Amino acid sequence: MGHRAGRDPRLTTHLALAARALGARRMYLHPPDPALAARIAAVGRSWGEGFEIVGVEDWKSVIRSYGGLVVHLTMYGLPLDRVLPRIRRSPDVLLVVGGAKVPPDLYRLSDLNVAVGHQPHSEVAAVAVVLDRLGGIPPASRRSRARQAIVPRARGKKIVRRRGR
Ligand code: SAM
Repeated sequence: MGHRAGRDPRLTTHLALAARALGARRMYLHPPDPALAARIAAVGRSWGEGFEIVGVEDWKSVIRSYGGLVVHLTMYGLPLDRVLPRIRRSPDVLLVVGGAKVPPDLYRLSDLNVAVGHQPHSEVAAVAVVLDRLGGIPPASRRSRARQAIVPRARGKKIVRRRGR
């Protein structure tokens, strides 16, 4: 929420990349930023599909119509460890993070307001920690149809490129 197109492209790009790499399926981006969405779609074409960015004008309607648990991440919320069992029970979870200051209504509209520690840090860190607790890094098999993949090595870089993809 509160992405400033042209002002914080790197931070929001990192948020999308971290969410994608840690297993998220979709990012609702408010307000929309088609250039950013296109850059992340290009990452998907190379490194594996299965993550999309949906631009959002009306963030309240996304939250109200969401079928799963809406979890707003904020340093003022309940400790993550205390509410993690409830979050884990929900098959679908929408994590909401802000850029600068978030609208006060968000605290009321969310099912849970949850803190990843009670110190100020970053939306990227908050999402990464929660996704890690919810299942962690997806297995490589989820990216098996990707055009390219890394061959893990102790030193140096090795990438395999798959033809026809
Ligand atoms: N001053 C802002 C405020 O009052 O919301 C903080 C902005 S912070 C740089 C950006 C986002 O990171 C927040 O909206 C929140 O989603 C997330 N965040 C930062 N620290 C957090 C924490 N300790 N726990 C959970 N989320 C946090």
